[in-house]
Amino acid sequence: MKILIGKKIKVYGVVQGVGFRPFVYRLAKRYGLKGWVLNTSSSVEIEVEGEEKNVEKFITDLQSKFPPIARIEKIEVEDSLLNNYQDFLIKESKEDLGYQLISPDIAVCKDCLRELFDPKDRRYRYPFINCTNCGPRFTIIKDIPYDRKNTTMAKFKMCQDCEVEYNDPLDRRFHAQPNACPVCGPKLWIEGIESEDPIKETIKLLKEGAIVAIKGLGGFHLACSATNSIAVKLLRERKRRRYKPFAVMMKDIDTVKRYCYVSQEEENLLDSPQSPIVLLRIKNLGDISEEVAPNNNYLGVMLPYTPLHHILLREADIPLVMTSGNLSEEPICQDNEEALDRLRGIADYFLLNDRDIYSRYDDSVVFALKDKLQIIRRARGYAPSPIKLPFKVRQTLACGGELKNTFCLTKDNYGFISQHIGDLENIETLEHFINTVGLYKRLFRIEPEVIACDMHPDYLSTRYALQFEGTLPVVMVQHHYAHIVSCMAENGITEPVIGIAFDGSGYGLDGNIWGGEVLISDYDSFIRKAHLEYLPMPGGELAIRKPYRLAIGYLYATFGTVPKLLSLDRISEEEIKIIKEQIEKRINTPFTSSMGRLFDAVSSILGVCNEATYEGQPAIELEMAIKDNNSEECYTWEIEKDNDTFIVKVKPLFEGLLDDIGNVPNSHISIKFHNTIARIIVNLSTLIREETKINTVVLSGGCFQNRVLLEKSLELLEGEKFKIHIHSNIPCNDGGISLGQAIVGGRVGS
Ligand code: ZN
Ligand code: ZN
Ligand code: FE
Repeated sequence: MKILIGKKIKVYGVVQGVGFRPFVYRLAKRYGLKGWVLNTSSSVEIEVEGEEKNVEKFITDLQSKFPPIARIEKIEVEDSLLNNYQDFLIKESKEDLGYQLISPDIAVCKDCLRELFDPKDRRYRYPFINCTNCGPRFTIIKDIPYDRKNTTMAKFKMCQDCEVEYNDPLDRRFHAQPNACPVCGPKLWIEGIESEDPIKETIKLLKEGAIVAIKGLGGFHLACSATNSIAVKLLRERKRRRYKPFAVMMKDIDTVKRYCYVSQEEENLLDSPQSPIVLLRIKNLGDISEEVAPNNNYLGVMLPYTPLHHILLREADIPLVMTSGNLSEEPICQDNEEALDRLRGIADYFLLNDRDIYSRYDDSVVFALKDKLQIIRRARGYAPSPIKLPFKVRQTLACGGELKNTFCLTKDNYGFISQHIGDLENIETLEHFINTVGLYKRLFRIEPEVIACDMHPDYLSTRYALQFEGTLPVVMVQHHYAHIVSCMAENGITEPVIGIAFDGSGYGLDGNIWGGEVLISDYDSFIRKAHLEYLPMPGGELAIRKPYRLAIGYLYATFGTVPKLLSLDRISEEEIKIIKEQIEKRINTPFTSSMGRLFDAVSSILGVCNEATYEGQPAIELEMAIKDNNSEECYTWEIEKDNDTFIVKVKPLFEGLLDDIGNVPNSHISIKFHNTIARIIVNLSTLIREETKINTVVLSGGCFQNRVLLEKSLELLEGEKFKIHIHSNIPCNDGGISLGQAIVGGRVGS
């Protein structure tokens, strides 16, 4: 007699909207099991009964053969009583009080692509083709469970053919919530133009040099031909973006390889389900306009990731500039009406569709450091996947920083970092921030018990947090400490570390602007063990936009006089005099230990960049000035001890720099400067290790987006046998601090 057993199984993770239930169904059928599977708001629940060995095989396969974009976090199996089920069924979703992980939007899969370009397929050239293995998820979901009625696809009633696929457990589109076809699904049109084939028409317009706003997955792109300098220039003017590089979309890997160097790792990233913008070293720009990425050695490239992009790029057969559809500093446009209104002055035409975007979702930006992913902007494809924390944290809302804002909500041992929100400097972005906080709270069933924020009183994120004072505890977390904790958590570190936080600006405990900090940190507190000496920022914020003010300020503070420099030639005597006065009388002149500002000052001293039109431009162009980084040479520096704190003095560095100017090319001065900073990192780490016996070094802060600095620092630290941790899945820039804030905030008083 065959012995039958029953098991009840709960599967947690990214298991909804990713073809998991059909997978379970097929598996159950294969092993002749009876029972059911259903989605709850926290998991997929399964009950099976059958022969013991078959049930065991079923459970093994369940954990090893799941669909490509699913992610299993946890499986619970318990015995259940036999119910004598007659069949295996997929049951209706059931709500409980839990929550589930939600899949990010995923690039169109190979099966859908094949159908898309198959003239005999009923979805031939249908720009909204998708299946359970690909397509929109996070951008269309309003609430859980992830069912069509809870998405922006609810308004499209499936035709018979689609309905059949949707209900067939053996079909690739079984319960594919955004399932659609040309008969029943979303449609494309060009605003104000009657056209049989809006895609062909768009290509014609792009080739004529037009700027077209194209509605995509999580917002609008502004597109133009990347090979047409006049069009790219026009886009720069209209978008008020003078130098910041534009991303380019290319039709396939072979095309990318014509223009850029592509390592295996970079190829994998470009072609991944996330399909981010990957920063690639330029080989030969060829017919691509210089205007696309001025003064840059890298090009941000992505492959088509929606069916619409695939058709466009394949049929246009030219690289397209694809930049977020916004005015600089504002959030990406989301609705048709909003785009028509806000992008009216930028785009000549609008390629629209009637599938609504529920959440804005920018393109993610990454680079590969050898074989390690480095995320610079974390959005499409990555958010809202949570970061797994090394411990449980109270439910906390951390409001993040100002530039490149993200927020973070914690629950259990997850940190849900929002997608890139933007520079939180205006009402539009604040609204986007508030709406997205609401969405995450709802989707993940989080009710914060603590609010965490930066210490900067003027950040909109801080002001938002302070509204909760009196109702909830508000914990202000020092900016650089948040950077370090974020990197510790991402790496699951539990011991104290030497935290190197090098970035632009962050509010310091002493009211000065910090940014060249070495913090001995654990999750509960930190000691500021070393920092760059304080130097003046004449004019405050103005000095960030006009780095020659920093150059003059730093030189004057160091030498008591401003040496004659070619790079400062065009600055009038009058302005120099005012700057000196500002420093002497300390008028609107904060002091900073920022490493980012030191890069700015050096960039200006060398005449590389005297005006920042986007954040980080002087430092980026200083890095880009390096033509050959095979040099070990460096400048000198001094370290002074003030009580227990090491202070890095830059006078010898500036002396060396001034000696070299005019005698040595900027390229070489720049590499020497980068080497110097890397050596300072090792010098400080070694001094601190001697004193504290701590051997683990963590690198965080926006300066580590600089590849030369990052590589040199790693190399030298490895040489000294430090255990080193850097970011990977979380930006090292301010897009990453919300996680650190959430952890520190969530632990206070718990
Ligand atoms: Zn697909
Ligand atoms: Zn249909
Ligand atoms: Fe920062």
